[in-house]
Amino acid sequence: MTPPGADTVLVRYGEIGAKSSGVRGRMERQLCTNLGAVIDAEGVDGRVERLPTRPLVRTPDPERAGAVLSRVPGVASLSVCRTVAPERGAVVDALAETAESLYETGTFAVRARCPEGGLSSMALQRAAGSEIESRVAHASVDLDAPDFTVRVEVRAEEAFVFVDSRDGPGGLPVGTQEPVVALVSGGIDSPVAAYQLLRRGAPVIPVYIELGEYGGPDHEARAVASVNRLQRLAPTHDLRPYVVDGGEAVAALADAMDRGRMLSLRRYMLRVAEAIADREGADGIVTGEALGQKSSQTARNLKLTSAATRLPVHRPLLTLDKPAIVERAKALGTYEEASIPAGCNRLAPARPETRGRLSKLQELEPAELFAWAARDAAAATRIDAF
Ligand code: ATP
Ligand code: MG
Repeated sequence: MTPPGADTVLVRYGEIGAKSSGVRGRMERQLCTNLGAVIDAEGVDGRVERLPTRPLVRTPDPERAGAVLSRVPGVASLSVCRTVAPERGAVVDALAETAESLYETGTFAVRARCPEGGLSSMALQRAAGSEIESRVAHASVDLDAPDFTVRVEVRAEEAFVFVDSRDGPGGLPVGTQEPVVALVSGGIDSPVAAYQLLRRGAPVIPVYIELGEYGGPDHEARAVASVNRLQRLAPTHDLRPYVVDGGEAVAALADAMDRGRMLSLRRYMLRVAEAIADREGADGIVTGEALGQKSSQTARNLKLTSAATRLPVHRPLLTLDKPAIVERAKALGTYEEASIPAGCNRLAPARPETRGRLSKLQELEPAELFAWAARDAAAATRIDAF
């Protein structure tokens, strides 16, 4: 609910508050930069300020700003507020006006916090409570389980009047971790996985590998569209995907191998990702794999595919069931872009390998596999624009 005269969004962060002061300062600054970039990118008028322990955004359009900012990594929650002078009369009046316009039925309570001293929160609650009782005919106080609560946070410079708060995604501001390469396929899982790393502060460098005759013409478009969703949450970082032409390598792999070819394809992909990570100074690779979701994703086969790279392979969806991943993709807005299965399914042999050995796989796979990966990664370019 938006109080009448609202002019500010008050942002609360979670974990950042528990950091040492140096780290906290750096993370707060990054969060403020990111908040400013998001409102700019979304065309919302506003200006970010860094109050001690919480950023705020002054804006003529607090409702839209609140909606947009509530998706930004590092935001635990936020409230759309009206600011007033930190004086008893002004605060009581603003609380009463807010109740007059938004308190419709049931019971009410006033909650005041005065973390920097100045006013007494008890006295303020009592004064505002009786003012509301005199202005709102149906008013009835219930301090334990009110139907409507009007709140104020009184700081030294100004007071913030608000009614409720909206949850953000939590996590850490993008840019507070080192970048990682995200393998994105145009499927449902991979954008959700990339988002998990982004939400914890790591900028992702998306890599899409075109599979030639085994891929589908619209997979690239779907991969790009789903990454564009992520880009909107992190406009401070360049998330334009790399597109790699893997057609020749995949065709050669299909000619050379039957059993184990899906594993070697994954090994090729991880090697491509590693080469791009080295070029970009990224420190890991994230995939949308989940334990047992496909034959290439058994515990044994994840060991065999991971052995293709010296970088850590992050699999944030490892323990999630498909319906839970689908739910997350829908919430993230990447589901529409990704609702048909990825084309590499067509490459799967009749009897896929689920319990192979690394030495056996290395014997079977083409000796040039990693050379192809190096060649194809070297030729990869980022798309020009979303
Ligand atoms: P997704 O997992 O992307 O929703 P999917 O489940 O059909 O689609 P899988 O076969 O499970 O795809 O692929 C496992 C992981 O391998 C993907 O999550 C992604 O990280 C990576 N991957 C698969 N195909 C590609 C591709 N063409 N380009 C880049 N990465 C890919
Ligand atoms: Mg998958």
